[in-house]
Amino acid sequence: MAPSQTSVILLQVLNVKEKPKPMNCPYCTASTTRKRAKKTELGYATFFCSACRRTFNERTGTPFNYLEAPTDIVFLVVLWRLRYKLSLRDVAEIFLERGFVFTHETFRD
Ligand SMILES: [Zn+2]
Repeated sequence: MAPSQTSVILLQVLNVKEKPKPMNCPYCTASTTRKRAKKTELGYATFFCSACRRTFNERTGTPFNYLEAPTDIVFLVVLWRLRYKLSLRDVAEIFLERGFVFTHETFRD
């Protein structure tokens, strides 16, 4: 069975190596930001904007910002749910076999 266009795109997103580089501030769009040594709990790079003096991370301003799961895991859940029509409990079980402990309630949001 040929993979659908959606799953091909999601797999391409998953294979992209994340190289944090200075990014524009999501609050004031200034480019005068610098990377901080501190990372978020999930390991995302944090930045400081010298224009508005705020800190932000790679996921600030995205729908993934307040999720407790890493972005690549979220994409995998979406892929498996849409491509293979797995239930939330099935997805949780697959992650459990790979050493990630989630409940089906984790994915509901
Ligand atoms: Zn700013």
